[in-house]
Amino acid sequence: MKNAIIIIAAMAVGFGTGWYSRPLPAAEQEMPQGGMEVPVMEVPEYTSSYLFPISEEDYLMRTSAFGVRVSPFLQILSHHHGLDIAGAWRSQVVAIADGVVTDHYPPPGTRGPRGIIYRGHDVYGGMVQIRHDDGNESLYGHLSRTFVRIGERVRGGDVIGRQGSTGRATGEHLHLELRVGGELVNPILYLPDVRGRNER
Ligand SMILES: [Zn+2]
Repeated sequence: MKNAIIIIAAMAVGFGTGWYSRPLPAAEQEMPQGGMEVPVMEVPEYTSSYLFPISEEDYLMRTSAFGVRVSPFLQILSHHHGLDIAGAWRSQVVAIADGVVTDHYPPPGTRGPRGIIYRGHDVYGGMVQIRHDDGNESLYGHLSRTFVRIGERVRGGDVIGRQGSTGRATGEHLHLELRVGGELVNPILYLPDVRGRNER
C-alpha cells in the first residue's frame, strides 16, 4: 500500500514536471543556432498542373481565402467554400484545365432567345462549372459575362467568361471552387503560385 502511494506520488511529480514525457521530435531538439539558416517551412507539393484562372498580367490579389470567415452578408462565421481573387476590371477568366461544362448560369440580365432575360444563380450570379478530364470540378462565380454553354468542351486556358460582381458579391472578384474526388478543397493548393502572391 505504502509502495503504491509512493509510486502514485512519483507519477504525480512526473506529470507536473513532464520528465516522463516522450522525447521531443528531432526538429524541436535542434533549434537553429546563431548564424544558422532557419529551416524553410515545407510547402505542399503541387498535385496537378492547373492553370491560374486569371492571366498573370491581370491578376492583382487574393481577396479572401478558403476556410472559416465572417460572412460579409450574414455577419456570422461561415465556411468559405472557395477562393476569391481579384484581377483587373472585367479580367478574362480562363478554364484551369481541359474539361466539359457541366453547369452554366448566364449573368443576371443577360438576354437569351425568345426574349428570355436570365436571373443568374442566386449566390454565384454568372457561373460556369467544368468537369475536368481528371474527374475534378472547378466552379467560377460572380461572372459579368459567360462564353460557354452546358455540354461544351473547353481546353485549359480557354476564356470562359469575364470577372464581375454578379450574385452575392460585395465587389468585383472571381470566386473559384475546386472539387477533388467530390470534396471541396482549397484551390490555392492546386494552382500555380502566380508572381509569388499566393501565400499558402
Ligand atoms: Zn468567394
